[in-house]
Amino acid sequence: MLKVTNLRKVYGSGETATEAIADLSFEIEKGEFVCIVGPSGAGKTTLLKTMSGLMAPTSGEVEIAGEKVVGPPEQMALVFQDYSRSLYPWMKVGENVAFPLRRKKMGKAERKEVVEHAVESVGLGASIDKYPWQLSGGMQQRVAIARGLAYQPEVLLMDEPFASVDAQTRADLEDLVLNVRHEYGVTVLFVTHDIDESVYMGDRVVILTGRPATVKEVLEVDLPRPRDQVETKELPDFAHLRAHVYRAIKGSQGAGADNESVDTDAAAATGAGARREDRAEQVAG
Ligand code: ADP
Repeated sequence: MLKVTNLRKVYGSGETATEAIADLSFEIEKGEFVCIVGPSGAGKTTLLKTMSGLMAPTSGEVEIAGEKVVGPPEQMALVFQDYSRSLYPWMKVGENVAFPLRRKKMGKAERKEVVEHAVESVGLGASIDKYPWQLSGGMQQRVAIARGLAYQPEVLLMDEPFASVDAQTRADLEDLVLNVRHEYGVTVLFVTHDIDESVYMGDRVVILTGRPATVKEVLEVDLPRPRDQVETKELPDFAHLRAHVYRAIKGSQGAGADNESVDTDAAAATGAGARREDRAEQVAG
């Protein structure tokens, strides 16, 4: 469904050039949920921007369903971290969700049905006529997710979508995304710097090295589904996988990466006991 081949991205030129991505290749099958994890500054956002056709790579290419990406592909939707900037404050929830559907040929009645269904599937049916600023941060991020789903993309790209919400909301949103992706049958590429989150959510985890980004390892996550915030995280396999990701990242942080910015402390804790509250402080701090 998605194929990245020898992708390289250099910002600027000459002495001030920054190589964000060195040489990145990986593939995602239809229906898969793949997480990309790496330290902040590693090049994750750069990767998503080039994958979504918002920015041209320096070399290499991205293909979606066998076609080379040269601009924003119709089959793709993006959910960003900063929901407060990605929603239009003057539009109601329903209007925000309907907005990208202008790109699609769709009758008025069908559009209304698609929007209502998406808003309901993220649990916001009662808020469809509210404005984003009347909602909590977690609810606003649900609106952004509903907008991505209503578009019925084949591929949903998510760029650290829960980095700005509190720990409990984050856990709820993680589960929400895992549930709705089945309902919508969408392939998901989910970028995070949170090791726990990458293992909890993914079928596979692509571990990046620090800047310039390359693929350090691709890890299969064979934890049973449906995943559960308590039961899954109690499994010895979960602890083992997160420790594995932690070591891989710790062992490969490049000079360019911000060494404190990957959530490794929680992952380093033994067993499944690393608490969300601890993590929230790291994210907020
Ligand atoms: P991440 O999303 O993993 O935090 P980014 O993709 O945002 O990483 O950034 C990777 C590197 O590229 C960083 O060193 C960053 O400073 C640099 N960078 C990002 N955007 C630009 C830009 N527009 N111009 C120059 N350098 C950039």
